[in-house]
Amino acid sequence: MDSAFYPNQSVSVLHGVGIQKAKQLSRLGIETIRDLLYFFPRAYERRGDIRLLSHAQEDESCAFMLTVGTRVSTAKIRRGYSISKFRAFDESGSVEVMFFNAPFVKDVFHPGTTFRIYGKLNFYKGRPTLSNPKYEAYVEGIPLKEYIPVYPLTEGITSNAIAKLVEQGIAGVLPYLKDPLPESVRLAMGLPTIARAIVGAHFPTSDQMLSEALRRLAFDEMLTFALHISMARKERESGVGVTVPPCIVSPFTKILPYELTQSQKRAVNEIYRDMTHKNQNGITPTMARILIGDVGSGKTVCAALAAYVAIQGGFQVAFMAPTEILARQHYAELSSLFSKLHIQTELLIGATTASEKKRIYQAAEEGKTNIIVGTHALISDKLQFNNLGLVITDEQHRFGVLQRAKLKEKSESAHFLVMSATPIPRTLALTLYGDLDVSRLTELPSGRKPIDTFVVDETYEPRLLAFIEKQVKEGGQCYVVCPAIEQSEEEEEYFTPESLDFSQASKTPKLKSAIEYAEYLSQKLPSLCVDCLHGKMKAAQKDDVMQRFSSGKIHVLVSTTVIEVGINVPNSNVMIIQNAERFGLSQLHQLRGRIGRGSRKSYCILVSSQKGDAAKARLSVLKETNDGYKIAEQDLIQRGPGDFFCASASDNFRQSGGIGFHFAKLCDDTTLFESAFSAAKSIIENDPELSNEENAELKSLLRAFSNASASSLS
Ligand code: ADP
Ligand code: MG
Repeated sequence: MDSAFYPNQSVSVLHGVGIQKAKQLSRLGIETIRDLLYFFPRAYERRGDIRLLSHAQEDESCAFMLTVGTRVSTAKIRRGYSISKFRAFDESGSVEVMFFNAPFVKDVFHPGTTFRIYGKLNFYKGRPTLSNPKYEAYVEGIPLKEYIPVYPLTEGITSNAIAKLVEQGIAGVLPYLKDPLPESVRLAMGLPTIARAIVGAHFPTSDQMLSEALRRLAFDEMLTFALHISMARKERESGVGVTVPPCIVSPFTKILPYELTQSQKRAVNEIYRDMTHKNQNGITPTMARILIGDVGSGKTVCAALAAYVAIQGGFQVAFMAPTEILARQHYAELSSLFSKLHIQTELLIGATTASEKKRIYQAAEEGKTNIIVGTHALISDKLQFNNLGLVITDEQHRFGVLQRAKLKEKSESAHFLVMSATPIPRTLALTLYGDLDVSRLTELPSGRKPIDTFVVDETYEPRLLAFIEKQVKEGGQCYVVCPAIEQSEEEEEYFTPESLDFSQASKTPKLKSAIEYAEYLSQKLPSLCVDCLHGKMKAAQKDDVMQRFSSGKIHVLVSTTVIEVGINVPNSNVMIIQNAERFGLSQLHQLRGRIGRGSRKSYCILVSSQKGDAAKARLSVLKETNDGYKIAEQDLIQRGPGDFFCASASDNFRQSGGIGFHFAKLCDDTTLFESAFSAAKSIIENDPELSNEENAELKSLLRAFSNASASSLS
């Protein structure tokens, strides 16, 4: 049955994959057997680690070896829902095992038989209970797996079914899978072969095997990314850009209500020079520059000035923001500046009406529009420019790289400028931004008041409520951030009797925290207007909430981290972050940057639900400094490069059968990252196009990477 397959063959050659299954797999990004092998578990259940009932911690998932003590009894509870339960025991005690709507379990669990049972121990009415645990029959002499992979799910395919297919794929393909990594690099890094890493990542038999596999896969991801960057650099070094005629910028600077800071002036000069200067061959290489500056350092005005220069030279400008809220904000800021200079600014976002879009497309094509601000609606093929000279993108994270490439397709010779508010430690910047020239804003405009930052635990809650009320009464406004709730996936799997809730709410646990906290606050603070903002809301709804917060109608805005990106509401002066221990320091710093923008004294309160001093100590870095670079260095030391490598992989990259960033994201090894970049460099030096036979596999990995990333755009 284990016939040989080839990595590029369609998964439909596998046993048990018909048209239906193939479709479902395709929804997970799995087309070929290679895709399948690269579709990795999102977690592992350590079922080999058997715990005694008496040693289990409440609410912790673990495995027990239990013998069934009683027959299964089934009772109807309501509206056709039933509970089946029985008692089971090990040498240390006994437990009640419950299943909801699974009357068939009476044919599975017979008294006297033994099962390995995996789930969370809870106390229901004071009695130890396991609800809807996973189970495997234990037969003496037949070993059970140490680790059970947990795969990302799609409708109709269980984790188990994927595991079975992966097993088949591994059996049929592994001998034919070429290692993308040159042997010399692999040995020098002490990494396992790709075959061993793939087996180890799906079906590890020990911690060691798993961690070796993850290290290898992280390295491959980093290497792929590094190759991408190195090749992009090479490519752009040969790019010919438009030459923007020199111009006088004082009409622009005169309308600003302030003077540019020294570092703004320096950055603007660098940009100006890039766009206007001709080299000894008489050409202007395309500018590829990133402007890095802490939140509030005034990047937008620098970008606006760059746009002004391009427009004075007769070129058009595209300005892309990552979200609609931000696009609108940039538009508001730019159009108010530019209208004074008789420059025509347009806004193009998903919510723009069809007729309006049509008008904008036409104006752009005819060259009547000078600058279009928008979201990735700008990427649309329908938008063609008459004379695009500059592309500006505002990026939260490094990985706008492919989005930008798309935008660049609109004009080969356009310059581009990237803005980033993620301060990157110098050591990483050289690699992460290896394809770009870097300008940095190193100071904040003067007159900013420092933000007082506090680290508290949950016992502070009553005082927190009083504090919010007081600040709002004095005219301020408040943000409350709740973490994006990743643990919800687990919650879905193991509902407890307490949370047994058949209503809709339990189907969208992701939103629970922000929505619930908003409800809680509006109950506790009835005199205030509390509202909620999260990523699952429709763009129009989000805009509406932001508008009302911006105009002061909403006093307290509870949200997920959607507000992390560049929102500017100067009157807001309190930032409360719940479960602060779950965030990286840089991310907290970004969030904090939402306040302290106006004349009001501002406060940031980090609420840590983790007990103990370690969490507090980590967070207290934020109390001590407001310098984004210092904070980023600390993040790098404390959490490794993963955060920088892909600070929000889940937002930007769909889980995909192709290579993504999930291992690199978990990596806490800085040296691995640097090695990946030096390996990439030497590979490219020897084989610039990756056309040598020995790099063929690496090249297809690179292609998978680009495709995976590009598909996340849609
Ligand atoms: P960033 O995008 O870097 O977080 P912004 O461009 O949003 O920062 O600027 C933050 C605020 O500071 C804006 O309201 C802007 O008008 C203002 N600003 C920018 N440069 C200066 C400056 N040199 N002096 C005073 N205020 C400035
Ligand atoms: Mg900004």
